[in-house]
Amino acid sequence: MSAISSIDFLIVGAGFSGLVTAERLSNAGFCCVVIDQRDHLGGNAYDCYDEAGVLIHPYGPHYFRTNSQRIIDYLSRFTEWHPVEYEIKSFTRDQYWSFPINLNTFEEWLGRSSTEEEWSAWLEETKVAIDHPQNSEEVIVSQVGWELYRTFFEPYTLKQWKLHPRELQASVCGRIPIRLNRDNRYVTDTFQALPANGYTAMFQSMVDQSPGIEVKLSTSFAEAQKQYSYKHLIFTGPIDTYFDHCFGALPYRSLRFERESYQASELTAREEISGKKGHWQPAMQVNYPDLDVPYTRTVEIKHATGQKIAATTVIREFPDDWSPSKEPFYPIPTNESSELYARYRALADQEQHVSFIGRLGTYRYYNMDQVTGMALTEAEKLIKRYSR
Ligand code: FAD
Ligand code: UDP
Repeated sequence: MSAISSIDFLIVGAGFSGLVTAERLSNAGFCCVVIDQRDHLGGNAYDCYDEAGVLIHPYGPHYFRTNSQRIIDYLSRFTEWHPVEYEIKSFTRDQYWSFPINLNTFEEWLGRSSTEEEWSAWLEETKVAIDHPQNSEEVIVSQVGWELYRTFFEPYTLKQWKLHPRELQASVCGRIPIRLNRDNRYVTDTFQALPANGYTAMFQSMVDQSPGIEVKLSTSFAEAQKQYSYKHLIFTGPIDTYFDHCFGALPYRSLRFERESYQASELTAREEISGKKGHWQPAMQVNYPDLDVPYTRTVEIKHATGQKIAATTVIREFPDDWSPSKEPFYPIPTNESSELYARYRALADQEQHVSFIGRLGTYRYYNMDQVTGMALTEAEKLIKRYSR
């Protein structure tokens, strides 16, 4: 039997949360081991080159954006940036629509040109008066009324979550802005850019700049517990698994991906649709709200990465029921799941030497910049506590 090694921090998960804490702690002089059951760095933000040579996001598209200078400054130590204004489309009723809904969408809806004044007056008349939207249906109908909601949101959400928007917290659909102007951007954060050489290269640079980190991939928490004794554990996996599902399993939604690559010769015929040489579809992401289409979106990430390559790859994203053999991609934000999470949280708060962070550790639908901020804050706290 091999001897148990003594370390300062065991960090479960090599995604944003785990690697950012590991980098900070190791550069403060602590000995850190980061483990991940997957065989690569980056968690769900991992990217890689496929057989066609295209840089892809195999776990779904990851569009980095933030309003926080602290996060930009921190991550910029490990990467240059490729600025992108993220634009997507929705496809229904046999046509592509500007999305998120804005004045351009309204014109497409009317089939003629319009003005902000007309659009604003139309919305005033059409939206449903709800002062404090309590769920994802109310948050959308209170802004755009029933028809646009039923076209773009209700079926998509049913497909994505297998739950009605009424059953989901307002924050789920509330993430999507509704605009009076012609701004077609998916999000309006002040900083929108991808790591110039990809996320995985950025994570590798984080590891390379951290002398005290040992990374062990294809390693489960259970295996690591047999190999290491540690002063403190940072757990970025699902919080309910840490407590052996003692209150029952938290619900997750999973995804299945289908990938297809196209060579330059196959793309010529698509130029009329994509509007861009060497591309397959008219935007980096096209959403398919209709229920008779089994996938929710198709992603051609080359639009965003700007990779100079003749081929392209399109990934179709199919929502999937979660089971223990599948990835828990999304916590499901309902009132019941929040209550169940609160019970796990109460247990977590009693653990003196364990931190639960990240999307799965806190069971929150967080973006990359938010988990980076959370990891930086947790690392600062731990550095103070263990430096004494
Ligand atoms: P993760 O990336 O999930 O990493 C956790 C790691 O822990 C995993 O690699 C897992 O294998 C490992 N692990 C878990 N349990 C164990 C165990 N017992 N033993 C060993 N290892 C374990 N955010 C954005 O900002 N912009 C976007 O456009 C965006 N798009 C997204 C699209 C999809 C489809 C999804 C699912 C998420 C998206 N996100 C996006 C959110 C983003 O993925 C997360 O904010 C971020 O990756 C969370 O990082 P994390 O380290 O907390 O978790
Ligand atoms: N949504 C929708 N129609 C769309 C896009 C989004 O109804 O065309 C809803 C859906 O419930 C989705 C949520 O808004 O889960 C948040 O969308 P986002 O694009 O942020 O999803 P993510 O990238 O997190 O999967």
